[in-house]
Amino acid sequence: MLPGTAAQEGAAEGHVWLHEPRVVVTNPIADDPERELVRLKEAVEQLRVGVDKMLEISQNGDKEQLQVLEAYRMFANSKGWMRRMEEDISRGLSAEAAVEKEQSQARSRMSQVQDTYLRERLSDLDDLSNRLLRILTGQGAETGAELPDDPILVARNIGPAELLEYGRNLKGIVLEEGSVGSHAAIVARALAIPLVVNTNRITNEALNGDHIMVDGEQGVVHLRPDDSVVSAFRDKIAMLAQAQERYVSIRDKPAVTRDGQKVNLVMNAGLMADLPSLESSGAEGVGLFRTELQFLVRNQMPRRSELVALYKRVLDAAQEKRVVFRTLDIGSDKVLPYMKPNDEPNPALGWRAIRVGLDKPGIMRMQLQALMRAANGRPLTVMFPFVAQAEEYRAARDEVTKTLERERILGHALPESLEIGAMLETPSLAFAPQKFFDEVGFISIGGNDLKQFFFAADRENERVRKRYDSLNVSFLSLIEQIVERCATSKTPLSFCGEDAGRPIEAVCLAAMGVRTLSMRPASIGPVKSLLMRVNLEDLRRVIYESRHRGDQSVREAVMRYLREI
Ligand code: PEP
Ligand code: MG
Repeated sequence: MLPGTAAQEGAAEGHVWLHEPRVVVTNPIADDPERELVRLKEAVEQLRVGVDKMLEISQNGDKEQLQVLEAYRMFANSKGWMRRMEEDISRGLSAEAAVEKEQSQARSRMSQVQDTYLRERLSDLDDLSNRLLRILTGQGAETGAELPDDPILVARNIGPAELLEYGRNLKGIVLEEGSVGSHAAIVARALAIPLVVNTNRITNEALNGDHIMVDGEQGVVHLRPDDSVVSAFRDKIAMLAQAQERYVSIRDKPAVTRDGQKVNLVMNAGLMADLPSLESSGAEGVGLFRTELQFLVRNQMPRRSELVALYKRVLDAAQEKRVVFRTLDIGSDKVLPYMKPNDEPNPALGWRAIRVGLDKPGIMRMQLQALMRAANGRPLTVMFPFVAQAEEYRAARDEVTKTLERERILGHALPESLEIGAMLETPSLAFAPQKFFDEVGFISIGGNDLKQFFFAADRENERVRKRYDSLNVSFLSLIEQIVERCATSKTPLSFCGEDAGRPIEAVCLAAMGVRTLSMRPASIGPVKSLLMRVNLEDLRRVIYESRHRGDQSVREAVMRYLREI
């Protein structure tokens, strides 16, 4: 059993598929040590040349990368390393087996040392051994292996674009690193694939085809489980399926609390594959359509006509339901494969989202035009991401007005109505002048980014992210202030970060006055089920009392209330 951190609920059973497969050594024994020695020397030489070349290229680059490469060079030239491998060959091992033996010894040392610096160096050595094995065996990242039945992806880490390439083929995902707040995790959630991150040593332990069980509820992974674990796990899968049936039974009921308050539950989407969920989840609309996912799955910039067809399909599928299209939110960890990457020291605080849109308005105009043509006389809702100050919203809104005018001149049908809103993802916008709240069409709180900037804790960095509870009183006070400001200006408000899909966080947001929650479709059942059992006035009192007592987080008090009811 390997412990990790739960990033998407659900349980899955299947077989390991290594994203970057380990090299398989098929010839452990050799009968011609002389020849093996020559092979080893040639391979090491090739490795050294390769490392030197990488060093040369990186001379002006990132300092940290340079340090890693220098450590590589030191290892590649290490006499002790070479001598031990030569000794193993003279005892009858093949060159590959000698490298592998060194590698496994380094790994077992790695599991014992606590010192992070030493661990990193040992992990460099591990990587170097892999390179050497690839040279010796001629195996690249492609080993020709076929995706097993019920594949469970195992990787050190993975980007959202790579994950989208696998799509729904995967039954589960286990990452050695990764983070709950990353966009890869959001993609996994959109696809409703159980995900466990932070699973120490998984890439060392797992081999392609291994039997594996992923527990996305507890955040643990069972690799090559024994029979008792298998049967307990299968019981768990059956229980989860039962809960799903319960959610289906309330699907067409509105989310009304014990004290008669209605909460609108809408869904987050971004892939064509999400559309059927509009019907099956009971969502009242799409509160966040992440348009960048469509840009991420392609290897070239989509054409306007493709976008028109795509958005039209979304609106058709939604029938009369409202769809909030968020304009391109790229940058940070969402890097388009066909755009020149920007070398920024801190991409999360860098040139991203609306900042890119306003500086390079060509893409934004093309997207707005595509949305208007797809609407073709139907109502249209557009939302701008990452608005940090009112001026950005105004400039973006002016682009919409200009595009509308151009469409009118060109004789295209104009949307029947047009709502333009902003995401509140930086604390600064919560303190914008009242005029902004008066003029903005609606506001949606992007809790993932808002939380990372509020606590100065990278959403991708598990170590710091989880220190700060979303039910921390400071964060809830910020939410309360946004609710009050929107109430004063009668600005419609929603919350579309991941917390909206976590039942306990969701009921607290509702108690604080957020009455539209946008979440991944699979969360609608669990959130609605809990909302229907709580009294929001009571819950609000519990939250206020906890805050008044000086608690850091209201979670404990809220849990006590929930257990009582
Ligand atoms: C957010 O930041 O909360 C959000 C909904 O946007 P994304 O997760 O795509 O950054
Ligand atoms: Mg965001």
